[in-house]
Amino acid sequence: MFNKVLIANRGEIAVRIIHACRELGIGTVAVFSEADRGALHAQIADEAICIGPAATKDSYLNIQAILAACEVTGADAIHPGFGFLSENSSFAKTCELCGVTFIGPSYTSMDMMGDKANAKQTMKNANVPVVPGSDGVVNSVEEAKEIAERIGYPVMVKASAGGGGRGIRKVDTPDELEAAITAAKTEALSFFGDDGVYLEKFIVDPRHVEIQVLADQYGNVVHLGERDCSVQRRNQKMIEESPSPIMTPELREKMGEAAKSAALACGYYNAGTVEFLVDADKNFYFMEMNTRIQVEHGITELVTGIDLVKNQILIAAGERLGFTQEDVHLSGHAIECRINAETPEANFRPSPGKIESLHMPGGNGIRIDSAVYSGYEISPYYDSMIAKVMAYAPTRYEAIQKMKWALAEFIVEGIDTNIDFQLNILRDQDFETGNVDIGYLGRKGYK
Ligand code: ADP
Ligand code: ADP
Ligand code: MG
Repeated sequence: MFNKVLIANRGEIAVRIIHACRELGIGTVAVFSEADRGALHAQIADEAICIGPAATKDSYLNIQAILAACEVTGADAIHPGFGFLSENSSFAKTCELCGVTFIGPSYTSMDMMGDKANAKQTMKNANVPVVPGSDGVVNSVEEAKEIAERIGYPVMVKASAGGGGRGIRKVDTPDELEAAITAAKTEALSFFGDDGVYLEKFIVDPRHVEIQVLADQYGNVVHLGERDCSVQRRNQKMIEESPSPIMTPELREKMGEAAKSAALACGYYNAGTVEFLVDADKNFYFMEMNTRIQVEHGITELVTGIDLVKNQILIAAGERLGFTQEDVHLSGHAIECRINAETPEANFRPSPGKIESLHMPGGNGIRIDSAVYSGYEISPYYDSMIAKVMAYAPTRYEAIQKMKWALAEFIVEGIDTNIDFQLNILRDQDFETGNVDIGYLGRKGYK
């Protein structure tokens, strides 16, 4: 087992990883930027080391500084969390060259899945159903026009290196195609340093349903059921739940098997998520595989009782999975609301600043993963998510009722948040009845 794990991340996911290490009796090293001197993860870790200025390229994306911190502290493994370097295969490779274990899949698996256009090809070959579209990236507007004509409008232009809902454009008619490609390429270049885009048929009003997988280094792969992440604004997730309101045991079995095939096709180990779109007829299509822990992993932990982060560490240390598919039982219902420092009334503009006072709810069936505290200054440099509130109960209805009192008791003063916005969704009849797809918030006027 590792002696010391360095957490190459910040915020609530860094805190979550520190907790898992603690439970396993492993030492922890936090890294922080100059803007994060007061951050919770830097305060609770066994050791903390400054890796550079606030800008992410100088700190949380600074591979040299992070590996130097490993060297100085004697950490023998790195957990990348999500975002930042978590899906950067050359970082994973550099870790290996430096003799530090990267807690995640092999860099070859990451390469196979990281390029989303190529990943779809790999999935096609493994007989996993994919969204119809271009074979790989498109090289010219003319080529794109031909493909769009063939698959039929509307189409999606998507960044091959994309993530976090960036670099995606919907195109309804041929005359919009060129501008959409230019816009997606520009956004992709600035976010991912790669302007490759591919084309996909736009699936009308699907649900986003993703399967969590865990695999060890000896070819054992299990799936831990699904998460429904259909409540999205601008292709970014806002509320997630498990199980999906539309799931049946038969569909879960089919999607679970497809997700396992996806993992096997790229020689995957560690935790990963296979994302699908599910249409009104319950046809499902592979969209992408996220080769890291996911923001919404906690709801899967609640319904399965399996700790995903501890399993990530154990798998990376070379242990075998301690259970088989038959041992995985889903029970109850879990919902997560992402709480962001933002102003919904001002087009969800980020709202950084000092939290003057804070009350976080707690009680039967409520879990909160967060890294904020009273007096904490939210930096404008990083993601605006400040907490994830999860509610767990025997049924979906009861989980929603719990979430309502929890959010009503969640008080943040000094900055704006989306708490009231979330409460309004929970009270909405379409949400209550599970009548939600990825177009849901857009139809309610939140574009
Ligand atoms: P998940 O897929 O885990 O539900 P998101 O897609 O919202 O979560 O992305 C997880 C986090 O990582 C978000 O904070 C997002 O801003 C960030 N992120 C995702 N992809 C990238 C990327 N390629 N580069 C930088 N940050 C990213
Ligand atoms: P990212 O890497 O940014 O997470 P995804 O490929 O997972 O990108 O797509 C993000 C979201 O965009 C999906 O959850 C879905 O809401 C929407 N989306 C993506 N592809 C399509 C499509 N072909 N048709 C309809 N919606 C789509
Ligand atoms: Mg995605």
